[in-house]
Amino acid sequence: MQRELFRTASSVVMDTKRWRNCHIQLDLQSRLYALTLHCIRLQNCANWDSLATVRFVLISASPLSERVCSMSIERKKYQVDVLVCGGGCAGIVAAIAASRNNAKTLLLERAGFSGGIITTVGLPYFDGIAEKKTGRIVVRGIPFELLLKMGRTSPNATHIKPHNPTINSTERFKVLADQLLESHGEQIQVLYHTTACEVRTKNSRVSKVFAANKDGLIEIEAKQVIDCTGDGDIAAWAEVPIEKTEPLMPMTLHFRIGNVRQNPELRTKAREALVHAEKAGKLPMFYGPGIIFCFAKDEAYIHAVRVSGDATNAEDLSRAEVQGRSDAWTMFEAWKNSVPGFEDSYFISCGPYIGIRETRRLVGQYVLTEQDIKSRKSFDDAIATGCWYMDRHPNHTTIGTANDAGTGYQPAPYDIPYRALVARKVDNLLVAGRCHSATAAAASSTRVTVTAMAMGQAAGTAAAMAVKSNTSVAALDGVDVREQLTAQGAGPFTQG
Ligand SMILES: Cc1cc2nc3c(=O)[nH]c(=O)nc-3n(C[C@H](O)[C@H](O)[C@H](O)COP(=O)(O)OP(=O)(O)OC[C@H]3O[C@@H](n4cnc5c(N)ncnc54)[C@H](O)[C@@H]3O)c2cc1C
Repeated sequence: MQRELFRTASSVVMDTKRWRNCHIQLDLQSRLYALTLHCIRLQNCANWDSLATVRFVLISASPLSERVCSMSIERKKYQVDVLVCGGGCAGIVAAIAASRNNAKTLLLERAGFSGGIITTVGLPYFDGIAEKKTGRIVVRGIPFELLLKMGRTSPNATHIKPHNPTINSTERFKVLADQLLESHGEQIQVLYHTTACEVRTKNSRVSKVFAANKDGLIEIEAKQVIDCTGDGDIAAWAEVPIEKTEPLMPMTLHFRIGNVRQNPELRTKAREALVHAEKAGKLPMFYGPGIIFCFAKDEAYIHAVRVSGDATNAEDLSRAEVQGRSDAWTMFEAWKNSVPGFEDSYFISCGPYIGIRETRRLVGQYVLTEQDIKSRKSFDDAIATGCWYMDRHPNHTTIGTANDAGTGYQPAPYDIPYRALVARKVDNLLVAGRCHSATAAAASSTRVTVTAMAMGQAAGTAAAMAVKSNTSVAALDGVDVREQLTAQGAGPFTQG
């Protein structure tokens, strides 16, 4: 009996100093028992390794509950037409577009809500929707529908002023995204708190994607996969060509301060306080500060934190979150202590995630360049229009502005080709959003929210087309994707 006990014991906890009572969990015929045994030390028994030389007397045995007993969990498996990884700007729109084009779609998002930068960082801007000079709308389709549902435009609008509209609640956007995703019924399944974490490839295809959530590791087989993680996670793990341009743009934690009294001196004095804090060694670097009153007249939304690092390195990302939080509080306290208008203010919230501007980018079938953007190169397979300025943040303090003086070329609206979303080497993978295929300079313009959404719509539509015609996204003709988008009121609006 004792030998049998020890062959099947799943855990042994023993007070080795006193050699008295030993607690064992025992799995006998699929039932767990908690046993307490009295241990009698025999002669010549020097330590616990000499197990054979001790004798146990059973004191008590109590069965553990059924819930504890049934610990073996089968891995959950999903089979879908289209898998979208990342429910941010590009991902929400990709999932909706795939579903509206009749593909059974699964959306994975590591946060407990979708929206990406808008909800994980709290950014209310719909940049890239309209060209700067005239305010002409250059992105329609689902991104326009989102702005419309947020009450910031009207159905027949052709222009928007300002060209970079803000929504009045990022929390409301969370709910809108939920409602829109849910409105597709069983056609879209959303798994929140689910992080894609591993990929298998076979015969030039992504054959499986693994993700981690409260079910443990789950396994997904999809006919077409869209990487909207912002960081090109799926592309990197599928070992398709990608790049990272050093130095990467810095990360920024946004935060909000309540009960601020606006006054003409506020921004100047706030800037002086940050210069002082940096000189005193309390702040490694900052930009701006951008102090924006877009949510309420006494609520300041702050763009100022700047942290260097590589967000695809888990240790670096953790360090950046800690640094970002610390810097946000240094700024808040500096202002509260010395800047008129902040005397009675309080820290509302930050994040919840630090904002990541740049990490990996796909090196796809076509790499969009700054020359393409500046010369307004026309592409037959254009699927979206970009129009934002080349918005590159440096890794040092820039007082009063986000960029170094003289940088930040403002292009006229330009084409983004389908091939800039298509991976090389694997046939069923598209990458949309800020990690699509472009040079670092080009991506500093294409990365903005609405342009990312427009790419998402193209990717979701293309993936569904590939499923329908039983082919792969790599084999599709981008001209056909453009035609389908146009038929659905989306696609490029580069020419006025
Ligand atoms: C601080 C900051 C300020 C910015 N300011 C502006 C601005 O003023 N105006 C503007 O238009 N743009 C701005 N941008 C740029 C823009 O917001 C982003 O580039 C844009 O959000 C890109 O969209 P995306 O879908 O590629 O990425 P995101 O919106 O970041 O979405 C990526 C999503 O994928 C999820 N995810 C990541 N990895 C995984 C994984 N492995 N598994 C599952 N889910 C995953 C994330 O949680 C996230 O929801 C700013 C960016 C930053 C960082």
